[in-house]
Amino acid sequence: MKINKNIVFIVAIVLSMAIVFTSCTNGVVTSSEVSQSETEEEVSKYDKIPVSISDDMEFAEFSKIKTGTAYLYKQKERKVILGRFAPVIAINAGHGTEIPQGTTTLSHPDGSPKVTGGTTKEGEVYSSAISKGMTFLSGVKESEVVLLLAMYLKEELLEMGYDVLMIREQIDTQLDNIARTVLANNYADMHISLHYDSTDTDKGIFYCSTPSSKKYRRMYPVSETFEKNDLLGDTIVAALASQGEKIFGSGKLPMDLTQMSYTKIPSIDIELGDKASLHTPDRLKELASRLALAIYCIPLENFSD
Ligand SMILES: [Zn+2]
Repeated sequence: MKINKNIVFIVAIVLSMAIVFTSCTNGVVTSSEVSQSETEEEVSKYDKIPVSISDDMEFAEFSKIKTGTAYLYKQKERKVILGRFAPVIAINAGHGTEIPQGTTTLSHPDGSPKVTGGTTKEGEVYSSAISKGMTFLSGVKESEVVLLLAMYLKEELLEMGYDVLMIREQIDTQLDNIARTVLANNYADMHISLHYDSTDTDKGIFYCSTPSSKKYRRMYPVSETFEKNDLLGDTIVAALASQGEKIFGSGKLPMDLTQMSYTKIPSIDIELGDKASLHTPDRLKELASRLALAIYCIPLENFSD
């Protein structure tokens, strides 16, 4: 009985992976190629490079909390994925920065007011430099859950051949939302921040899409990135849905966020559930593995220059 269950489970996993790969690879790379290096020694495969903010980086002067260190994990041998050099994926575990109360930064680089609400209200010119995040109904902090998820996702992506910029690997990393975005702009090709929403209905996954405001969409650098941000979000949410993840509504909610207002590379804030969502280590491992496959589904031809 136990063996039968295991076989059913394995067949289900293989089938779901086949569906995902078929739907996003055009047959260029197979799943066996992705996992070919699983048995190699972890440490020898990549370098871990500390990176930090320097004043000459665009938008660095807008950040108030920027002394923290992020880590760039670089494959020693550059890998090819879907016929292109593997991009650098910035993984940003949301929150996890202790700041003096009331520390704010400009919501938009041009000083214009926010066009939607969020942690900070619509119409405000300044936003919290970075918020604390929510606490799950279980009493565990969002910042700790997304950190564990980010660490699992890093392992998956490195295994698949990506380079990974880990924006935060500690409980407290002194980098506010602008500093995180500036680091991603300078060291990564795509930026994915991991969050859970503050509702408590276990409503499912969505990403924060670009608000419809014409003025917002004309503002630099939003004008250069918003279409790719939304394509990135649509792709990842669709790939998660195809692996059986519950999606909230249409999978997107327009939100004026600091991250998206300063990004120069394709970037999303993905909300992976809410206060009521399961967040055990096993669940986070499953989610990390599904996110990694979703990232693998990104049509790289639409994101390179
Ligand atoms: Zn959050």
